Amino acid sequence: MARVFSFMLEDLKSSFSRDLAAASSVRELLDLQSRYFGAKGAVKELFKQLKSLSAEEKKELGAAINPFSEAAQAELKEKLERVSAREDAEREARETIDVTLPSRPPRLGHLHPITIVRRELEQIFREMGYTIDPGPEVESDWYNFEALNFTPDHPARDTQDTFFVDVDKLLLRTHTSNVQIRSMERFQPPVKVLSAGRVFRRDEITMRRSPMFHQCEGLLVDKGIHIGHLRATLEHMVRRLFGSDAKMRMRPSYFPFTEPSAEVDMSCIFCKGKGCGTCSQTGWMEILGCGMVHPQVLRNVGIDPEQWSGFAFGLGIDRVAMLKFDIPNIRTLFENDLRVLQQF
Ligand SMILES: [Zn+2]
Repeated sequence: MARVFSFMLEDLKSSFSRDLAAASSVRELLDLQSRYFGAKGAVKELFKQLKSLSAEEKKELGAAINPFSEAAQAELKEKLERVSAREDAEREARETIDVTLPSRPPRLGHLHPITIVRRELEQIFREMGYTIDPGPEVESDWYNFEALNFTPDHPARDTQDTFFVDVDKLLLRTHTSNVQIRSMERFQPPVKVLSAGRVFRRDEITMRRSPMFHQCEGLLVDKGIHIGHLRATLEHMVRRLFGSDAKMRMRPSYFPFTEPSAEVDMSCIFCKGKGCGTCSQTGWMEILGCGMVHPQVLRNVGIDPEQWSGFAFGLGIDRVAMLKFDIPNIRTLFENDLRVLQQF
């Protein structure tokens, strides 16, 4: 019987040596400790089984188990200290923070090119004392057309193919000129207002056109306002937007709500007026429409055209953004491709 136990002890010794050599982390070593020397460990189990032996055999085997147990635990303790120190050093190296490193800069968003131009325009006119009012995008026929002198059967309505909203005869504004009427109704002259925002027309999507685009509208009504004030204001705006060497010219045109009316060209920013492919060799590019507020429009909002006069202009923000940032296709502005937007 005692021989069986001495074999069991030899087995235990060799399996402990093997397990100890294989354990390489604190966790594995603690596990090993409880498997061999814990309350239900292999050494305790071996002692329990000695009960069936005679007192003399117990004494003899007990005397053999105890030195093994003590030596093995000492060996285990030594390795546990060594591995624990190594793991602490590794953790410290991993978690060390170099406080002298500069912090990572936060990832900043980018303004959309249209937002950049819109804010620039608003700033230019705010400096000249204009009120900024974007106005509503869903509008009635009165504010979008009729009060602006587009009578119900006016042919100019055909040039602004309209999206109608199926409620109370509302429509999506075809231009920001609706803000002219709303501002003159709300404030007594003098009125100085700038409105920038989205407008909508039933257009095909092409390189230059989109059913939704952005306009900026300016209106000034005061005593003694003449076309010289209009021209000076526009020249100031064009130079602020495109640089002090930008030139502009006015050509007679027609809009129902201004009289006289003009289209404004600016010197081509690509060839500086010499003529190139972008400006069809003319040296000029059309950028906006403008004119003196039609007396009938003033009468429509109860302002006496004998006392007051004013000018109005409207320009395409998308067009300005395309020129300023050299974007050939208007669709680029609305596709929200981050590879494009991150460049601004
Ligand atoms: Zn050119």
